[in-house]
Amino acid sequence: MTQSGETVKVSDTRRCRESGRVLHILDEPAVSLNPGDSVTLELDWERRYAHMRMHTCLHLLCAVIPESVTGGGMTDQKGRLDFCLKDGLPDKQQLTDALNDLIAKDLPVSVEMLDESILDEQPELVKTMSVQPPRGAGQLRMIRVHETDFQPCGGTHVTRTGEIGPVRVARVESKGKQNKRVQIVFDRTTVKESEQ
Ligand SMILES: [Zn+2]
Repeated sequence: MTQSGETVKVSDTRRCRESGRVLHILDEPAVSLNPGDSVTLELDWERRYAHMRMHTCLHLLCAVIPESVTGGGMTDQKGRLDFCLKDGLPDKQQLTDALNDLIAKDLPVSVEMLDESILDEQPELVKTMSVQPPRGAGQLRMIRVHETDFQPCGGTHVTRTGEIGPVRVARVESKGKQNKRVQIVFDRTTVKESEQ
């Protein structure tokens, strides 16, 4: 909400490489906004919570497929991770069942701050091949999904896996000789059935 009462939608945020400041990307130009204006930010909780649920589910996928992650992406509807998998494509139904088992266990998800030197001792904690967590702050934010997944992460998460709700592996595809892509969606059909 701007000073003139205009509401503008922030569709994305990026960190400016040069200035280090957070850029808010708008869907369309805000006519009334000028540099230095004050605005009131309102969190789109439904979208944020969907991101938290899907992102936490991607941690579970890391546990179900304990191989190096080569890429990923997420919206409030779906999420995907690419894995370095030498053998064939994993089975969609088996992955779906394994994820929903971990979700049904309602495992606690917690944040721990550890000395970043832990990565020198246990570099295998970083599951993403191309993205290393930022170093230099001394501390590292670690996310633990009870006895299931433990890795550095700066994302947003739910506090228990049960909050994710039913999911379905919608697609498993080959993206190169060793690169396999797994896409997850929220399983709305299951939700509807359970609500009846
Ligand atoms: Zn995370």
